[in-house]
Amino acid sequence: MFGSRRRREREERLAAGLPDEWRRTCAERFSWYPALDQDRRDRWERRTLQMVIDVSWEPARDFVVTDEMALTVAAQAQLLVVDQPDGALAGVRSVVVHPTTIVVEGEFSQVDGIVSDEPTPILGEAVEHGPLLFAWDEVLDDAHDPGRGRNVVLHECAHVLDQYDGVADGTPPIADPDLARRWVDACTRAYEDVVDGRDPGVIDPYGGVNPAEFFAVATEAYFCSPHALRRAHPELSGVLSEFFGVDPREWSRH
Ligand SMILES: [Zn+2]
Repeated sequence: MFGSRRRREREERLAAGLPDEWRRTCAERFSWYPALDQDRRDRWERRTLQMVIDVSWEPARDFVVTDEMALTVAAQAQLLVVDQPDGALAGVRSVVVHPTTIVVEGEFSQVDGIVSDEPTPILGEAVEHGPLLFAWDEVLDDAHDPGRGRNVVLHECAHVLDQYDGVADGTPPIADPDLARRWVDACTRAYEDVVDGRDPGVIDPYGGVNPAEFFAVATEAYFCSPHALRRAHPELSGVLSEFFGVDPREWSRH
């Protein structure tokens, strides 16, 4: 009986659509919001609302996760997958929000094979088959100032997308075989540029640690520094543009 009441409430919230106040928050917070065409905006609104409702938003100790925080994370996550089939981020069941930088104590590995037992500060993490973790102050700074070239929500959700086919190899599921072939060529070339120090500072050098991190930081560059990425790595920018279906050069100055 309780279950059916919760189900009815969920359906009512979904049917009511994104509240106007949330639309206003997005319009104030995200320069990309007005640039979405009607089709993409409808899809993005439906999925953003669904993510806010269905994901378990869990506060770190002594913190409170508000609807505004959930909206700010979900809105950016759903921008990333706006051209992907429904359910591309269905693996995200819970999101843990910390007030600020998370310091991981004990053994921790950011890169396969390298384990550290020093306290490690992190801004976010996509635990495989587990929750997403974010530092709220970083999420907010990234949303306000995309020109810094960083976006922790896009970075961690790029990992989720990459892992959708079961392997974190820097290649998310790509339906079009021709795009998949060009994707591998373009990513391999740009990855080697990063590894060999030929990238002119557009892609975070952290992308050189492995292809999965390369895809995550290239995604950040695509959305945060789209003009610079197009100049430095035109093929990479081109395949990302076909894949993501939105071109951040339309709304970004960087
Ligand atoms: Zn990463």
